[in-house]
Amino acid sequence: MDKIRMMTPLVEMDGDEMTRILWQYIKDELITPFVDLKTEYYDLGLMHRNETDDQVTIDSAEATKKYGVAVKCATITPNAARVKEYNLKEMYKSPNGTIRAILDGTVFRAPIKVKGIEPCVKNWKKPITIARHAYGDIYKANEMIIPGPGKVELVYTDENGQETRALVHEFTSPGMVQGMHNLNKSIESFARSCFNYAVDTKQDLWFATKDTISKKYDHSFKDIFQEIFDTEYKEKFEELGITYFYTLIDDAVARVMKAEGGFIWACKNYDGDVMSDMISSACGSLAMMTSVLVSPSGVYEYEAAHGTVQRHYYKHLAGEETSTNSVATIFAWTGALRKRGELDGTPEIVSFADALERACIDTIESGRMTKDLALITELPNPTVLNSLDFIKAIRETLEKAL
Ligand code: NAP
Ligand code: MG
Repeated sequence: MDKIRMMTPLVEMDGDEMTRILWQYIKDELITPFVDLKTEYYDLGLMHRNETDDQVTIDSAEATKKYGVAVKCATITPNAARVKEYNLKEMYKSPNGTIRAILDGTVFRAPIKVKGIEPCVKNWKKPITIARHAYGDIYKANEMIIPGPGKVELVYTDENGQETRALVHEFTSPGMVQGMHNLNKSIESFARSCFNYAVDTKQDLWFATKDTISKKYDHSFKDIFQEIFDTEYKEKFEELGITYFYTLIDDAVARVMKAEGGFIWACKNYDGDVMSDMISSACGSLAMMTSVLVSPSGVYEYEAAHGTVQRHYYKHLAGEETSTNSVATIFAWTGALRKRGELDGTPEIVSFADALERACIDTIESGRMTKDLALITELPNPTVLNSLDFIKAIRETLEKAL
């Protein structure tokens, strides 16, 4: 069989620990036998980040801007223990944070659905994609403990020294106070990323805030989304037969529980933090969750939603057998290949990505899976495979299908 040709390279960001092992297995077993793979390779493994003073992370993000599509392996975000373990020159920032800041993107996460691993919410027939705003609010707030009686005010001093004040509270007893902010520019980028992603995936977009209570703060989010929708996206949505739906956050939660799925739910920063954990655990496993960073300029970086699976890696190093689920990492590859194919106009790449995803799902539905899924599946007598054998089983399914 002739290998499928690629036109433009993918930006390949290698990573750490168990996912780095899976990365190589996936390339060797599932990609390079079928595709004449072209990538521009960046090693974001912690050792190489340390050697390059983290310049490699910045370079990989810049390359993503240049080529438009990247695929990323999970990486270690160093803490004090990692600084010691890897003898690091410094405690580098999270690569995902660095890349997100350069691409100014929004992260979309969606569960991968397979028969036999059913969400706790029975009526969720299709995936619900969470889009989380990644700037500001309580994540960039300042706080103060108020020890006793006194007045707290918000003070804005403009460039000319002119002050505007608003009373927060006249304290008569101890309490606490918090000041947070957001930026129109950041909300506009978030809105455009969400509308673009809805158009790309032909799904409805929901957005919710608490604008009835927060008449300036949350209301600005609502107004910015509406303004951008009306002026830039309304016609496109009508053409595709998809809708933009705004409601209050509590109403959104109630409707989500009763919905069928198959839509994107855009959330403010805190709401997205909370709701994405709710969706992923209701759907079974972080290892069955895809994640893509989409910039407002239309640049894409695909990855798995889980981390480097450190515990399994230490077992692997000790020579013990592991059963680590590679599905989310495979879907990072297929997501990136499909997008590359769409942008380059190479339908064979798109069909290959579809076939590989189908092969993952069919393999699991045939009862062959990793341990994390075997523990939660409703299928009788699942066969538990080790990390490599699971990937080989997917290859077998894929070869039959091609
Ligand atoms: P993790 O790697 O997501 O793993 C946590 C636990 O979840 C694992 O111990 C395992 O449970 C289970 N799990 C996760 N992915 C799995 C898979 N593919 N197959 C089977 N089980 C899976 O989170 P962590 O251990 O908290 O973090 C490890 C490292 O990852 C940290 O250094 C962190 O900085 C990094 N991290 C990176 C990213 C990213 O690059 N996007 C995201 C999150 C964390 P059992 O042990 O019970 O089997
Ligand atoms: Mg969280």
